[in-house]
Formats: sequence, C-alpha cells, structure tokens
Amino acid sequence: MRNPFLFIPILFLMTSACTPSSDKVEYKSYEEYPVYDGEGLGAHYTPEKTTFRLWAPTAEQVRLRFYKQALGGEPSREAAMEKAEKGTWLASFNEDLKDTYYTFQVKVGGKWLDETPGPYATAVGTNGKRGQIIDMAETNPEGWKESQRPSLASPTDIIIYELHVRDLSTHSSSGIQHRGKFLGLTETGTKSPQGLSTGLDHIKALGVTHIHLLPSFDFLSVDETKLGENKFNWGYDPHLYNVPEGSYSTNPADGAVRIREFKQMVKTLHDNGLRVIMDVVYNHTGATEHSVFNQTVPGYYYRHNKKDDSFSNASGCGNETASERAMVRQFIIESVKYWATEYKVDGFRFDLMGIHDIETMNLLSDALHEIDPTIFIYGEGWTAGDSPLPAEERALKRHTSRLKGIAAFSDDIRDAIKGHVFTSDDPGFVSGKPGQEGRIRFGVTAATRHPQLNYDSIQIYDADGPWSPGPAQTITYFSCHDNHTLWDRLTLSRPDASKEEKINMQKLAGAIVLTSQGISFLHAGVEMARTKEGVENSFESPDSINQIDWERKAKFKKVFDYYQGLIALRKAHPAFRMPTAEMMQKHLKFLEPSEPNVVAFMLTDNANGDPWKDILVIYNANPEYKNISIPSGSWTLVLDRDHVAGGGLGTISADELAVPGISAMVLYKNQ
Ligand code: CA
Repeated sequence: MRNPFLFIPILFLMTSACTPSSDKVEYKSYEEYPVYDGEGLGAHYTPEKTTFRLWAPTAEQVRLRFYKQALGGEPSREAAMEKAEKGTWLASFNEDLKDTYYTFQVKVGGKWLDETPGPYATAVGTNGKRGQIIDMAETNPEGWKESQRPSLASPTDIIIYELHVRDLSTHSSSGIQHRGKFLGLTETGTKSPQGLSTGLDHIKALGVTHIHLLPSFDFLSVDETKLGENKFNWGYDPHLYNVPEGSYSTNPADGAVRIREFKQMVKTLHDNGLRVIMDVVYNHTGATEHSVFNQTVPGYYYRHNKKDDSFSNASGCGNETASERAMVRQFIIESVKYWATEYKVDGFRFDLMGIHDIETMNLLSDALHEIDPTIFIYGEGWTAGDSPLPAEERALKRHTSRLKGIAAFSDDIRDAIKGHVFTSDDPGFVSGKPGQEGRIRFGVTAATRHPQLNYDSIQIYDADGPWSPGPAQTITYFSCHDNHTLWDRLTLSRPDASKEEKINMQKLAGAIVLTSQGISFLHAGVEMARTKEGVENSFESPDSINQIDWERKAKFKKVFDYYQGLIALRKAHPAFRMPTAEMMQKHLKFLEPSEPNVVAFMLTDNANGDPWKDILVIYNANPEYKNISIPSGSWTLVLDRDHVAGGGLGTISADELAVPGISAMVLYKNQ
C-alpha cells in the first residue's frame, strides 16, 4: 500500500502510471553495452540525502520501491528512476532514509522483471530480498578503525585453515554460545567436555596463520526465516556478493547486524594474530534466470552457448559468469576491493578460478595489492565443465605463471598423498600405494622446476611439467571441504588398516604438507582426524555430518599435538618456507634412497636464513622399518613418528638411519 503522505520524493512522483517511459533499448552485442565506470552504484546514504544508482542499460523503465520491513507488506512508496549516463538510472532523496528497505524493478521488453536489491547492495534484510539503507559507520565495532591486519613477512609463511562458519561451533561439545554464527569465532575460553580448548582458542593454539572461511557472502540455500531448522549448506550458491550471509548473523532482518558481526569476527581474529580469507564464488550465481544479475540486465553477466544462446555451464551449476565482459570484470574487482577495505579481509580464494579470464584475475590482483601487498589470492585452477571462454584465456593451473601473485591448488600433491580424489578406494603414498615417490617429490618442490626431477616419469594433471613459477603460487594440501576427509578416505581406501596405522598415515600426511615448500593448507579438524561419516559431497548434509566433533580432540590428542608441533617447526624454520624456485634449486637436494616408497631430501646451507645449517627430511610410507643411508655427521633428531621437539629428541651419528614404518623424520646438523 502506498502512502503518499509519508514522503516527498525529490526527483519524481511516485506512481508508475505517470513514469516517463524510455524507448526499447537494443544492442547488437554485449560488448556494445555502455560501460559505467563512475562511483555510486547501489544506494549511498547520508543523513541528508540518499542516492540510488542502478546500471541497467536495456531497461525501458526502472522503479524503486520502499518498504518498512525486510519481507512482506506493501511498499510504503514507489518512485521512478531517471535515465542517467552510461546505462545507469538515478534517483535521489533529500531526506533521512535510514533503515528503509528498498527494491529495484526493471522493465525490459515491455515486461516488469523481479524486484531485487540490485547487484550492488551492501546491506539487505532477510534472505537478501530487499536492500536496506543503513549508516555503514554505525556497523563498526569498537576499535575497528585502528584495528590492523596481523603482520605477514612473506606469502610462503602462510598456513591456511579452511573452515565453515557453522562447522566450528554447532556441535554441543564446542562449548560455544553463538553456535553456527560469525560471533562463534569471537568466543575465547571455550572448552570441550574433556576440558580441552575449542573454537578460536584451539585454532590459535594450533598455530595456523590464516582462516579461510567457506562462502560467507549472502547465498540462497539457507532460508533465513527458518533459522530454527538449523539447515546447513556450504554456500556455493551466491545471491548477493557484497553482503555477509544472514543466517550466520543473530538477526538477518536487520541489515546492519550481519555487517557488524562480520566485522567483529574479523577484528577478533586479527587481534588474535589470525588473518581472514574469504571463499569467493564469482564464477556463477545460485539462481540463473531469476538471479539478481539477470533480473537487472538480462543475459549480460553470463556466458552463452553459441548454438542457441542458452546459458553455458562451466560451473556445473547451471550458468557461468562472463568475467571478461567490462561491467562483470568491474563488478568482481570492485567487490573484492570492497571486502578488503570495508571489512579488512586479508585474502580471497576463488572457486573454480579457471572459469575466470586471466586478465581479470591480474587486474584484480593489481587492485588488491595496491590496497595491501600482503593480501593473498589463490584459487581452483580448473573448471567444472567446458566454457565458451577459450582455454588459453582461462585462469587454469597450467597458466599459473601468467597469473600475477595468484596461487593455485596443487591437485598433484593432494592425490599423490591420499589417492585419486574421485576414486574412494584408491590409496595414496601415505596409505600404501607404490610408485608415488616422483609425485611426492614434485609436491615437495611446490610444482616448480627442480633439476633433480624427471618430469616425463611424473604424473601431473593438466600440465606438461612444473606449472608453478614459485612456491608462493602453489597451495600444498591433501584435503579440503570437498570430498572425503582424510580420515574417511583412509578408512575407505584401507579398510584393513588398524586405527593406529591410520593415525600414523594421518600424521605422515600432515608431515608431508608441513615440511614441503609452498603454501600449507589444512582442512579444519584434520588435526583431530575429522570424519564426515564417509559422506563425500556434504554440501547440504546436516550439521551432524559436517560439524566438528570436539570430543575427538581428546580421542586423537596425539594427532593434534603432532600437527601443532609440525606447524611450530615450520614457523620456526624458514628453510621450509623458501620464497623462490631459484632458492629451492640451490638449497633443496633430494637423496636417492635405495628403498621404494621413501622420499628423502635435504635443505642445505642455512636455506632461506635458517639457523640450522642442514636439515634432513625423510618420509617412509612402507609399513615397516627401513634403513636409509644418510650423509655422515652428527644429526639431531627433531621429529619422528610420535614426537616433534624443536629442541631435539637426541643425536645420531651414523651413515644409516632406521626409519619406522609410515612415518616422517626430520633431523638437522650444524656442521
Ligand atoms: Ca542468505
């Protein structure tokens, strides 16, 4: 219901009936659409004036509706927007519109499309149905302006912990009050029933440097009106890119709350020495025909199949965005800049990065690094289906050397360690598959060129050889939210193995990642042998499958202690974190053990300024002891199957070392 007595619109009167109508606008191709490169897209508020600007070059009319609530009810007012420069539409109101909810509606081809908050919304109500006018300054928690990113000297210092907001805290054993919320990450002093630290304290004690949050922008799949149902979703179904997800807030209806709570989370993590990475999914939208993009400028934001102009589908989710198109490219770049500045986010993980074009990724990298050179960018260097974008232009893993300061996941070391990702019963190096030594060595060198490796004999996915120009552009990992947890995979691929053997495999896998070069990446909970009960694609499985069961921390305490020790060892020793391929070529030397299923290497001559002169690392994936020849000298043991101790576990002066089955050893000598 309209109430013309409440407001006095400045530019236009409110009925759509008297709205001036533009002619139908048609362009021969998307490339001909006008490009708006000015400021002010979306809604911009001051107490004196609010201005709305929407880019909708094919619109014949655009109307703006105001509401008093996030959902339902009649509009309190309607106003037509005026056609402005470069395909935009404008309306402004010289009054205080704070807390007003609004929608845009676009008429194309004589038809009114869906009401939306517009792609540029930065504050919305429940389910992101309506935008909301808020005062952004009021969303800053105390001390926000002064709050700084924790220091980061080199990208190879990064150790990533990949976490879903809900997984951390929904289990009752977490002891966390704000279960499943952004605020759950801000609670300290929380304990498991066994009295062990959980949540933020746990992550901090583990020693990782960055928390990578699974999608935390506004996605579609969880109904924010039914939060009591505790529905879970990974969140790879974007709705709005520039607002936090409502279900992770304590009140999705009030647009300011989720923003304030997200900032509170970032600030608390920063105050605790942890950087924050957002998982961003610009490669597709959750809805296709009825996405916000498509209801604003039909077709424009997406790639299409040549034969019938249908939506192409490199994402496997029904559509793919067209990052190479001017206003899409600009949208993505402005969006990450917004998160890096307004929310002080420290890094971005690009879902299906191979769908994006290389040029967009490089422009985006430049823009972010201008804000802060320590912002870290990485992504999945693959697509989920074919794309109309020529393969040569895709930001694929094999094109990593053409990407500026952007890392790609090494699926090579992932599968070498645990077996082929899509073959559940396929074991890997740690679980007894022979012939993996070359791939493990390739992983140790972070997929960079090394003189001792024969690339003809190493299986490398989707690349002819060493695909990474340097360790800062390689993500070294073996598991993530996708697919089975490592523990479940070990159970499936080695049903014969005892619990103790699987614990040893879990520890060896951690030792490989954390003593290899590259950016270390750990799936949250791997340090307590996390299980998803054998569920692989748990994107919409209930919390009972996805949540971290903190009781496992006591049950697998020795796994936690081992991972914690490995991280401490890595952080104390720059030799494991060499910044360039050239340094690795000089200071990383593989031994040639006579036994199969053994990889051994040395980090020599105080590599990367390490206090230890020579470091010897040995991985024995055989189930039994192996005697391995080692260079002579007085070696101090710092890591074996059951212990990590930077101060040393004893000294060894022998030409041969007995390495226990399924274990890693690290030793050093100073002369
Ligand atoms: Ca949502």
